[in-house]
Amino acid sequence: MSTRMLYPELGREYPVAVRAKGSYVYDAEGKSYLDGCSGAIVVNIGHGVPEIAEAIRAQVEKITFVTRLQFTNPQAERLAAELTALAPGDLGHVFFTNSGSEAIEAAMRLAFQYWQETGRPERTVMISRDGSYHGATLGAIGLSGHPNRRHTVRAVLPAWPRAAAANCYSCPFGLTRSTCGLDCARSIEDAILAAGPERVAAVVIEPVVGASGGAVPPPPGYLREVAAICRRHDVLLIADEVITGLGRTGHWFGCDEEGIVPDLLVLGKGLSAGYAPLGAVLLRDRVHDAIGAGSGQFSLGHTYAANPLSAAVGLAVLRYVREHDLPARARELGPRLAAGLRRVLRARGIQADVRGRGLLLAVDFSRPGEEPGITAAEVVRAARDAGLLLYPAGVTPVPQAVMVAPPLTITVAELDRLVDLFATALDTVR
Ligand code: PLP
Repeated sequence: MSTRMLYPELGREYPVAVRAKGSYVYDAEGKSYLDGCSGAIVVNIGHGVPEIAEAIRAQVEKITFVTRLQFTNPQAERLAAELTALAPGDLGHVFFTNSGSEAIEAAMRLAFQYWQETGRPERTVMISRDGSYHGATLGAIGLSGHPNRRHTVRAVLPAWPRAAAANCYSCPFGLTRSTCGLDCARSIEDAILAAGPERVAAVVIEPVVGASGGAVPPPPGYLREVAAICRRHDVLLIADEVITGLGRTGHWFGCDEEGIVPDLLVLGKGLSAGYAPLGAVLLRDRVHDAIGAGSGQFSLGHTYAANPLSAAVGLAVLRYVREHDLPARARELGPRLAAGLRRVLRARGIQADVRGRGLLLAVDFSRPGEEPGITAAEVVRAARDAGLLLYPAGVTPVPQAVMVAPPLTITVAELDRLVDLFATALDTVR
């Protein structure tokens, strides 16, 4: 179909999606695709869930929009209450947005304002990590260490420092599991010291790196060490849980893996599971109360933020995730999927790293220090032809990893079929 819209590859013909149900997406030609990546790691509860359709219908009949300047609404209030009850520690307050990028922007604004309200306005430096991705808007991409996605706007982005990635497959310090001394965590402290702790507003991390690096969990102890470093230098910690939040990694939140409580926790994607645009920032009491005791104002507001319709979707999704205990399902099915992927790679003599946490997995075909072999683009293409949707990942000039992150509701039979389709795709690529 010719299009008047701008798509990632101009001039390319994209298949036309017309419906989806459960773990499958169907195009206009009637071809079915097993959704091996939940869209963009979004559709955690699967497609076409009747309970969500009913929640949307019921909410449209009640009320869909009020501006935050005039009203609050029961749906947004309830969703805020449920999220803060689920979240670790005293993450007791919520600011709603319409996307992960907006939520990252809001988290940055909250961090800057926190320091203004507490008399240290010179704390304006944000520290993030190589290879990270925090969103598409200028502030969020400015924070990201993802060269491929920064390059068209690089000249106008802030020159914020970046610490090393926490990537055990391709350790920036050349260490192995047995020689690991958490140098990657220490590089965050080095970046804080180099910038001057008195100038640093916040450190931003993804508890497990998502699509940018390809489902990269940090080494054990990393999250705790980073939290301790931030405490030591009185720097705010922002956890970007746009992908890891709400069950994907087998916990409600990625931070739960090591029991840390960030000052700001950012959500998107799985919060509405793709049924409405929705993002959120959770704030610790410390941040909220500083603003409350200071100016008493947080003057950021996207028109649609906290709208009753998206909030009703968020509530229905949260109920579904809870009732089906999807974090436990991710924990249970992840190892089965990883084992299946390893099995088909081994059977074909392909060396690749299969890694991740819960149902946030990736297959990385790159070999550290070697020329690119199998690329993400060719695997994604071959998989799509075979009827399997995968998502490209990796930050090298030629991305070489694919995300395998199906809906958390995927059945065991579908999971096994995913592995078979992956094998078919590999046979075409080689
Ligand atoms: N943060 C992470 C870790 C992401 O993966 C993404 C999107 O892929 C974002 C932030 C931005 O979210 P959105 O695309 O909803 O703006």
